[in-house]
Amino acid sequence: MDIRCERCGTDNPDDHKYCRECGNALKKTVKDRINEALKWRREGGERGYGQALIELTEALKTDPNNAEANFYMGKFLYENASVYNALHYFKKAIEAAPGWAEAYYRLGVTYYRLCRIREAVEAFEKAIGLNPDYISPYYFAALAYYHTGMTDKAIQNLQEVVRRDPNYLIAYYHLGRAYTKKKMMDEAIEAFESIVRVNREDADVFFHLGYCYWKKGNDDKAIWALGKAVELNPADENTKELLKQLMR
Ligand SMILES: [Zn+2]
Repeated sequence: MDIRCERCGTDNPDDHKYCRECGNALKKTVKDRINEALKWRREGGERGYGQALIELTEALKTDPNNAEANFYMGKFLYENASVYNALHYFKKAIEAAPGWAEAYYRLGVTYYRLCRIREAVEAFEKAIGLNPDYISPYYFAALAYYHTGMTDKAIQNLQEVVRRDPNYLIAYYHLGRAYTKKKMMDEAIEAFESIVRVNREDADVFFHLGYCYWKKGNDDKAIWALGKAVELNPADENTKELLKQLMR
């Protein structure tokens, strides 16, 4: 990326310290630094990551409260397993841009990963409030609610996910698990069947579907679903055992 001379407007190669036309000291703008960081990050590898952090560090030296520079710093750190350090930068990004739903969402995921569930939920709710059409925060909020035993809230958020995107299959899985926990077997069956209609490769889904049918007393369908589970995962002794009992 070239650096434009602020005095004469000449584009200079980015390793030049002084303008080749007029000798003016060259300075990359914060925006240049961020773009360069993104470019390095796309290049990938240790080097790309390292260079991206260097550019963002420089950008933040010039403008410590820059929302984007803080956001990407948080994102790259998080993606490279520096999860705890990412928190600080997402918070700074939000301070600078309080209306940025994605920054709240990323903050929430970071809290969630650190098992700070209450703070995660707060961040997800904030992201949803700022942009109700943004699906990911509903999904993660649901996982967080499920984790803390707030099953109704989990169900409510998962319903929002599949209402907005009926192809978000993993959401039906968690929906099925949550309904099973509430002993709402018809709803659970419907959720697991939504997956099976599209994807017949997941042994775990067939197991849970079979379990729900079994609990409903529908042995034929239970045997069918558990049979599929065993077929897909022959090493699953527990499912084999349950199937054997049902077939007696
Ligand atoms: Zn110049």
